[in-house]
Amino acid sequence: MGSQEVSSTVDWQGKHVTVAGLGVSGIPAARALHERGALVTVVNDGDDERARAQAAELEALGITVRLGDGATLPPSTELVVTAPGWQPDKPLFLAAAEAGVPVWGDVELAWRLRGTGGREPAPWLAVTGTNGKTTTVRMLASILQAAGLRTAAVGNIGVSLLDAVLGETEYDVLAVELSSYQLHWAPSLRAHSAAVLNLAPDHLDWHGSMAAYAADKGRVYEGNTVACVYNVADPATEDLVREADVEEGCRAIGFTLGAPGPSQLGVVDGILVDRAFVANRQKQAQELAEVTDVNPPAPHNIANALAAAALARAFGVEPAAVRDGLRAFRPDAHRIEHVADIDEVRYVDDSKATNTHATEASLAAYDSIVWIAGGLAKGATFDGLVTGAAKRLRGVVLIGADRALIREALTRHAPEVPVVDLDRTDTGAMSEAVARAAELARPGDTVLLAPACASMDMFTNYNKRGEAFADAVRARADESA
Ligand code: ADP
Repeated sequence: MGSQEVSSTVDWQGKHVTVAGLGVSGIPAARALHERGALVTVVNDGDDERARAQAAELEALGITVRLGDGATLPPSTELVVTAPGWQPDKPLFLAAAEAGVPVWGDVELAWRLRGTGGREPAPWLAVTGTNGKTTTVRMLASILQAAGLRTAAVGNIGVSLLDAVLGETEYDVLAVELSSYQLHWAPSLRAHSAAVLNLAPDHLDWHGSMAAYAADKGRVYEGNTVACVYNVADPATEDLVREADVEEGCRAIGFTLGAPGPSQLGVVDGILVDRAFVANRQKQAQELAEVTDVNPPAPHNIANALAAAALARAFGVEPAAVRDGLRAFRPDAHRIEHVADIDEVRYVDDSKATNTHATEASLAAYDSIVWIAGGLAKGATFDGLVTGAAKRLRGVVLIGADRALIREALTRHAPEVPVVDLDRTDTGAMSEAVARAAELARPGDTVLLAPACASMDMFTNYNKRGEAFADAVRARADESA
């Protein structure tokens, strides 16, 4: 199967396909391939009760499932379809490489299967980056909808990619979120246009190095036909555009929080403006929306809005639809979510800020902050984060397993800032954190949960952490009402 081949030309009948990993992408992939006549074997590391129940369902259809052995490549395999999270140095992939067997991820499979129902396949507008992907893709879908296009936000959110390309609903265009893992396994993906929002070290254990991580992100630009959208403030993203092999006529389009140059989108006097998709970009700029149309209008989120606008404009969307789509957009839960105001203090839940890069963005959005932080640091260091925010910190409340790392950074770079160190991980810990933060806050301040850490030491996930925070804040609001 050559890399440019489209699935309609792939004859799945009798093809031996190994699906690596039961789970959100593996199960639908196994079913879709089985329906097309492939001989599917699913291999899975785990062998617990849940896996057995899932296996039984697939086996009832005639799909072979091997539990407890995700390492051995079944001998007749002609293609491996993997869950995106599987690490590339796994023995299964080494065996595949040795046998000359191609490996596709869930995105590659969806890309290859699109258009097989006899319909014209919808073009993809793709978004990747370390932070802001979900927000940007949802803003983009909102803009495309406002333009009257049939679209969906797909990827890690909303509709799954396979459902979007194989389901009943017809789309004019898809707004696609892609992770670095997914891009790693998607060699023939060719988006209409794509954006890399930013690049900061993350998931390096998986990719092996920053260079490998960046290279996987950069794949999103390969073969773009209209626009490669990059972040002017993050030159590494522009480097990736330069290195990409794109279709003739495809343009590099920058977004910036400053005044835009030619072929850029940016901000002038509180207005989002386009100097890229206009008749004369040397002389002309097109107003798209006001900064206050972006929800919330924090700097990093305005950047997300500009990236979404750039992709929409690359697809030919009119300026008014950019404005209407941004106005209609509502952020997802736990992403700079305003919970309540109590005694003139604003309480904001950014539990989704699970790494320092995201937290840096959210700390930059407020002037005077009581910061609630801590959890599992995942190997991160906090010096840069603390140095950048020191002047704006009214106080800090630390929670979770690795709070000492943040405390040490505060001692080094912001010794005058009061710090409350909460040495408890029980269910009441977040209530106490909020109570202590309230004591530190002054009217006009923002109490910001932006932990810069993963949540699993104290909570099931970041959603639960955010809910615990919001519950504690609402309980205080009820008391003070
Ligand atoms: P992703 O899908 O990439 O994880 P989200 O939109 O879910 O991104 O946002 C994740 C976190 O990153 C949020 O906590 C948010 O505050 C922060 N964030 C969002 N956009 C950006 C950005 N452009 N730059 C830095 N941080 C951001």
